[in-house]
Amino acid sequence: MYVLRGLINRLQANIFARLFVVGPGTQRGPELHHAQTYWKVYVHAIYIGISQAQPEWHDKIFLHCDYLYGKRDFGAVRLRAPDIKAEIVERLGEMELVMSDVPAIIHGSTVEDKCELYRFESHCLDEPDIPPGSWYFRYELDYEKDNKNVVHGKIKDLNPTLCKCGKTYNPNTERQVYCLSCKRWAHIECCKENGPRFHNSKDTMTFANKLACAPRTRGITDAEDPDDWTLVGSGRRLGEYCTWLKSNPNAEEDDVKEYFESNFGEQFYHALMTDLELPGMCCPRCERAL
Ligand SMILES: [Zn+2]
Ligand SMILES: [Zn+2]
Repeated sequence: MYVLRGLINRLQANIFARLFVVGPGTQRGPELHHAQTYWKVYVHAIYIGISQAQPEWHDKIFLHCDYLYGKRDFGAVRLRAPDIKAEIVERLGEMELVMSDVPAIIHGSTVEDKCELYRFESHCLDEPDIPPGSWYFRYELDYEKDNKNVVHGKIKDLNPTLCKCGKTYNPNTERQVYCLSCKRWAHIECCKENGPRFHNSKDTMTFANKLACAPRTRGITDAEDPDDWTLVGSGRRLGEYCTWLKSNPNAEEDDVKEYFESNFGEQFYHALMTDLELPGMCCPRCERAL
């Protein structure tokens, strides 16, 4: 607990009727299903008001927080800033938020619920899964008014990971594949074709080893419901599989299937089989086979 002092003049209490408090490691709240309509904040600190001059603030709880904005908030009057790139906003995921750098103090009584927020390190291969329907962020918003009261805004990628085409990854509509050499993601349609995936000498590879060479992908699949790995990619799970394979070098197809189904579920195994059928591709940067 902290004491509220100089920050009190930035008080914005009661402006918004309802808020979600988003804190690290908190559980998802029961009202998450209609959480799109709530303002969401990231709480840095909790204060208790003590002021001789303002006795009405006594013992009241205030939160020092930053606002998080979703796709629908951009373009609203509140966030209109000509220098925010429409291309980035367009490509935000449905559950994606952008962390702002505008500190605010809000009244504790305006808080409705709490929910979990994931930071998405979108350049990584082995990110932990993010459950579908969870809030996540990968961008930060610099948002300020100049001395002429003109609003400026800039969205900064916290871990820039552009494909060679220069477009950011849109998890709702695109699939990407990871290049283990240049350690970057590329859109599948931006990769060069490279003939069949397995041919000649690779025909003699065991099924278990072929699977270890499956492309690391992320983004939309043909599955009806997105799975936990869809946003972040299959990299972590396939990495765990490769470790398992080292201690089970003689694994047969049935053992492999059982491994995947008991560790990651049937849907993931099915997705992996689909990925294995992808045609051979080359990285658009380094030409390595993917
Ligand atoms: Zn691309
Ligand atoms: Zn590459």
